[in-house]
Amino acid sequence: MINMEDTSLGQPLFSAIVLTLFPEMFPGPLGQSLAGKALEKNIWSLKTLQIRDFATDKHKTVDDKPFGGGTGMVMKPDVIDSAIEHAKTLITEKPTIIYPSPRGVPLTQDLVEKLKNEQLIILCGRFEGVDQRVIDHHDMLEVSLGDFVLSGGEIVAMAIMDACVRLLPGVISKSSALSQESFASASEFARLLEYPHYTRPSFWNGKSVPEALLSGNHAEIEAWRLEQAKMVTRARRPDLIYKKKED
Ligand code: SAH
Repeated sequence: MINMEDTSLGQPLFSAIVLTLFPEMFPGPLGQSLAGKALEKNIWSLKTLQIRDFATDKHKTVDDKPFGGGTGMVMKPDVIDSAIEHAKTLITEKPTIIYPSPRGVPLTQDLVEKLKNEQLIILCGRFEGVDQRVIDHHDMLEVSLGDFVLSGGEIVAMAIMDACVRLLPGVISKSSALSQESFASASEFARLLEYPHYTRPSFWNGKSVPEALLSGNHAEIEAWRLEQAKMVTRARRPDLIYKKKED
């Protein structure tokens, strides 16, 4: 019998080309553990392009002063455009081009579910960001990791890829492990934060494991977990429950 979960696949299921001034940062954490093994097995593929290689002057300039004044530098549209056009020649399907930006749509599990089936080109901004015209010209999807400012898009690119890769078949061995996770879209646990976990020893530091989990009664355990998931979501992220009703 063929064990699908252990079979390496000829064609990657998910691929990303990352445009960056720091290609040596990759694969970084994605070369380890689940994502790293999946990369070795060619379940997904990762390529980086050095943005500076697409600069045309002898100083290899990638940024310039902002029109209108102000501090910081802006990445040049002509250089970014050449890098994107080159990346497009390396893939077969129409890519989704992502620009990580604090102004973007939040990275949610729903968005990850869509992106995992795409061929991505991810443009990592640095300095103050990228000239708006090239973002518009390529109809880039601006994606935010949250309401804070990082110094570059590389960590965002890694977060997006990691979230996508762990959903691919053969990456996490028990797919049921995914369905009850925080934000998972399937099952009655949909869009709830996850219930708490416990492992041995059953008595530690003066504290026992909740009774229901020791009962061996599957229905009772499920009911307890669902109740806990609802409680923690109500307390910490009531916005998720509101969102669920709207769906
Ligand atoms: N001047 C910008 C911040 C630039 S930070 C502003 O105030 O919005 C430099 C780069 O880091 C950005 O171009 C973007 O690619 C990335 N970045 C920083 N914070 C981010 C976030 N929260 N989400 C996604 N990308 C982010």
